[in-house]
Amino acid sequence: MAQPKYRIATIGSHSALQIFKGAHDEGFETIAVCKKGSERPYKMFNAADDVITVNSYADFPKIQGQLIKKNAIVIPHGSFVTYMGYEEVERQWLKNAGFKVPLLFDRPKNIDRLVIVKFMGAEGGRGYFLAKDEKDFNKKIRPYRLKKYVIQEYIIGVPLFIHYFYSSLTNEIEIMGCDIRYESNVDSLGRISARDQIVLPKIDPSYVIVGNIPVTVRESFLPRLIEMGEKVVEVSKRLAPPGLFGPFCLETILTPEEEIFVFEISARIVAGTNPFIEGSPYTWLKYNKPMSTGRRIAIEIKNAIKMNQLKRILH
Ligand code: ATP
Repeated sequence: MAQPKYRIATIGSHSALQIFKGAHDEGFETIAVCKKGSERPYKMFNAADDVITVNSYADFPKIQGQLIKKNAIVIPHGSFVTYMGYEEVERQWLKNAGFKVPLLFDRPKNIDRLVIVKFMGAEGGRGYFLAKDEKDFNKKIRPYRLKKYVIQEYIIGVPLFIHYFYSSLTNEIEIMGCDIRYESNVDSLGRISARDQIVLPKIDPSYVIVGNIPVTVRESFLPRLIEMGEKVVEVSKRLAPPGLFGPFCLETILTPEEEIFVFEISARIVAGTNPFIEGSPYTWLKYNKPMSTGRRIAIEIKNAIKMNQLKRILH
């Protein structure tokens, strides 16, 4: 029987431009599902062959029939899953992989070091704050009393996001690239001298993401990063068979002692891959042609179609 003509669809946001470009490079037509008013980039950059407009993302189920009719394969990204973190299973996953993870404090009374207080479902780190003890915590939590939060040890170092791709078809792991984020206002506080910071009222750091900056890591870190990716996949197979597949990201902090703390894992394409639409140094070495994570996803789908194994790479 002839294969149906599959199309690649996703929500118009996050990493959709990259996903569509990769899909086009591999010969797929694309469908952007856009919230009213956010269609323009997908038309301007020739990214979407078809645009379906919805009033809100909550209407996504209403257009499922249309997508099925078009043989759409929907790629999930950060706008599908705005929040993934802190669940027990995630920590278990990271710990079973043998990673160092920041300590969690189950009550403010126990805070004995600098902590970061994060809100569940916070988009882009809005409202996060640092606290040094219970008193400081109680003062700063006031405006957010009704929100769910976690209290995590604050690790001083460089937050580094490592992008991986695991092919369940070939059982191979790839490093796709790395990024650091530029966050407002934490990354711009260094532009204000300590003297001025002290006199300014209420200048707490916040972590609202503005964009992503590509990073090439010190080459001697690579063996550890490769091993970490392998560990994540291996543990996922035990914890939740058949395990993780496709793109994922380890969100880490590298300390001056060269320790790597993992504070979160995203089991999907992350926006930090967006600077690499033309490929990263690592994908250039491996492929010798432009290879983004979006394109790598399209290749995986193409290979699965060819091998009649589509079920293995779709949920
Ligand atoms: P999501 O994946 O839900 O968008 P996120 O990737 O934005 O979450 P968060 O855990 O919300 O990640 O953290 C946001 C920012 O806060 C990070 O980019 C980092 O700068 C900082 N941060 C988070 N946890 C720690 C920590 N334990 N120590 C130091 N800095 C941290």
